[in-house]
Amino acid sequence: MNSKMNAAERRWVALVKEQPCSVCEAPGPSDAHHIKQRRHYTVVALCKSCHQGSMMGWHGQRRAWAIAKMDELDALDVTIRNVNTSLISN
Ligand SMILES: [Zn+2]
Ligand SMILES: [Zn+2]
Repeated sequence: MNSKMNAAERRWVALVKEQPCSVCEAPGPSDAHHIKQRRHYTVVALCKSCHQGSMMGWHGQRRAWAIAKMDELDALDVTIRNVNTSLISN
């Protein structure tokens, strides 16, 4: 996946990975979860548990997501807000 990203896409994904988890707010660095393959601007910052956790994660039973009452678009909104805030404050 990384090899197909251009420089601008890599920069955005790197910014996303600096953010806290968009579901549980665990501090970064976070994973960058792709909502859709090869769409590198709609990536969500997630901790390992909320991403790949077999019980809690999006790629598992999604319990953290259910507890937070969030779907991928809700989490994407949080990610973009956090990236924007980090850019403003830097
Ligand atoms: Zn999390
Ligand atoms: Zn993922």
